[in-house]
Amino acid sequence: MFNPQSSESSMLTSRETLLSTLETLPDALFVVDDATTIVYANASAQTMLGASREQFLGNPFWRGAPQLVSPSLYQAVQKTRQTRAPSEVEYVSPVTGTWLHVQLSPTLGGLTLQFHEVRALARRQEIVPLSEHLSIEDLDGLFSRIGVLTPKGIVLEINEVPLAEARVRREEVIGHPLTETRWWSFSPTSQEQLRAAIARASSGETVRFEAVIHPREGLDRHLDVAITPRKDADHHIAYLVIAGIDITERKRAEAEIHALIDAIPQLVWTTQPDGSHDLFNQRWHDYTGQSTAEAQGEGWMQCLHPEDRPRVRSAWQRAVQTGGVYETELRLRQNTIGEYRWFLARAMPIRDDTGQILKWFGTSTDIEEKKQAEEALRASQERASVLMNSSIIGIFFAEGEQIVDANDTYLRMTGYTREDLCEGHINWLRMTPPEYLARTQQARQELVIQQFGTPYEKEYACKDGSRLPVVVGVVALRRDPQLHTIGFMLDNSARKELEQRKDDFISMASHELRNPLTALKLQTALLHRQLDKHGTLDQVPALSSMQTQINKITRLVEDLLDVSKIQAGRLEYRQESVDLDALLREIVDTMQQTNPSHTILVHGTAEVSLLGDRDRLGQVFTNLLSNAIKYAPSAEAVEMELSASKDAVVVQVQDHGLGIPRELHDKIFDRFYRVTDPKQKAIPGLGMGLYIVAEIVRHHGGTLMVESEVGKGSTFQVTLPKKRDG
Ligand code: ADP
Repeated sequence: MFNPQSSESSMLTSRETLLSTLETLPDALFVVDDATTIVYANASAQTMLGASREQFLGNPFWRGAPQLVSPSLYQAVQKTRQTRAPSEVEYVSPVTGTWLHVQLSPTLGGLTLQFHEVRALARRQEIVPLSEHLSIEDLDGLFSRIGVLTPKGIVLEINEVPLAEARVRREEVIGHPLTETRWWSFSPTSQEQLRAAIARASSGETVRFEAVIHPREGLDRHLDVAITPRKDADHHIAYLVIAGIDITERKRAEAEIHALIDAIPQLVWTTQPDGSHDLFNQRWHDYTGQSTAEAQGEGWMQCLHPEDRPRVRSAWQRAVQTGGVYETELRLRQNTIGEYRWFLARAMPIRDDTGQILKWFGTSTDIEEKKQAEEALRASQERASVLMNSSIIGIFFAEGEQIVDANDTYLRMTGYTREDLCEGHINWLRMTPPEYLARTQQARQELVIQQFGTPYEKEYACKDGSRLPVVVGVVALRRDPQLHTIGFMLDNSARKELEQRKDDFISMASHELRNPLTALKLQTALLHRQLDKHGTLDQVPALSSMQTQINKITRLVEDLLDVSKIQAGRLEYRQESVDLDALLREIVDTMQQTNPSHTILVHGTAEVSLLGDRDRLGQVFTNLLSNAIKYAPSAEAVEMELSASKDAVVVQVQDHGLGIPRELHDKIFDRFYRVTDPKQKAIPGLGMGLYIVAEIVRHHGGTLMVESEVGKGSTFQVTLPKKRDG
């Protein structure tokens, strides 16, 4: 029809005529070239656009006349360009809201568009003439933001939401490339993102992406955007529909969850439904030193202890296959120090409404300390079980008198079976023979007071009635309400047997020695008498010293015999009235004669007769005096003090000698016990004296006590009842 640029010079006059005609046309007329750039517009067009020609000439039509842009017009332009046939379109101006009728005619290098405002009420066309008859309003409910773009990204139509968001008028957006509108973003990255998406959509692909837009100062929106290409009947891309869902809230919630996940002390991770890891929290990165990229998929297994990998991999695969809960213990390497720590890894699938797994959510909790504690417990249990199963010590647990558990050694020693144990047939009190009850009771009291009992010797009656000598030590566990105890029992029979053999030997040896000694004693006495008779007096001193030595040996052998008898409970006592003052006088005289080095001082009198064995009681005081002299080598005197009360008589033997350490005050009364201090050891003795003394005093119903301090001396006190108990 008309093309000013390609008009012939011969037609110049008629062109000018035509131009002025066009200027007077009431309809707005635009002439555009092939690139849809406005090359001409008449006066009515200027009025319609409300702008001077200079403002829009040379601009693309969509930008130059945004008030007129609509998807219908865009489609009609495209169609006319392709078919090169005139066409018409009617639509509502998005700006003025009036109905427009447009006639489009192809020219040589473009086309003309003639706009006619339709005043008559015409049937309203659909704004977006999509083949599916889908309107923007229809989509409004689905997508908060929706627009129609040319394949190049020029906005043909857009709904209200973006305009309100950006506070722009429709005409400021329509006809402009979407990437450059104020609504989208001024950020080059976002613009580039949209540009690339439009390019891909224009090549026929539906593109989906997330973007952050900045519609205006202080407003950021996170959009889930889809750009769908629409094709015409010839399968050309006719236009693009861009739809955006506001996911700002979701993103914020996600960010909050991420912040929360980052804050929790566990390592947190998520995986795809197929089980490949895709997200890790900050703790994970801090602990392993791995970035998300390094850890993704199976990358995280690099931090897993090599020994744990096959096990963990198969457990994880099993969980993914079955969709069950995943839980396993594993070791993860700590990046900073390269050491592995134990973690408890747990994961649960998150499913949608249909039960489909969307992802897995997993945590790894540091259980290193728990593991170490468990390991320590295991080791201690192992040690305890070694101890329990030791074949040397019998171990038992008791509640009150009842044995509730015991090791095999205990059962073997006592002859009971495990069934007896389970059925509650083992009772330590019933196993204790009567003669050990007192000692056991004493140990029990000690246990209650100080939580443990000093090991002591006793015997148990075994299941078959035989006696088992043992050493027992017991520790109190708790009172609940009975006393719970754990006891250790050593078989003492070998030692007892050895002791018995030693006692037998001592008894035998002392008997064997006594007979020749008696003979020797008689012979020397006889010899003494004969020498006296024949007057060979120069031999007497030698014989006397012989007799002294024989007496010493005899005393030793007597003591040995006494010890054996005490052991066997066969020491015999006479029962007679004993004048204690006379007895003591006699003893002191004899001792003074044989020990001229010390003066024996006697204070007080007993003035009492006792019922007892005179010789044995004599033995008591002889022994105490001889010790007092022996263990006070540099002292000059030993003292004996006698006193009496209504019921008892007290005899004290005091020296100013070496003294005895406090902790040994009890031990010195034990059989064969001697203080090991070098000064004491240098003094001859066999450790039998005090044992015999204690036994005799006990037999007479009396008590024997010692008070002593090292370097100062000792006082032994014998208290004897005036009347014996029976
Ligand atoms: P021993 O034959 O060794 O004297 P005892 O049974 O009489 O045996 O005494 C046991 C131990 O007690 C002695 O070895 C000695 O170490 C110590 N002891 C006894 N009496 C005294 C004392 N008066 N002073 C210092 N130590 C004494």
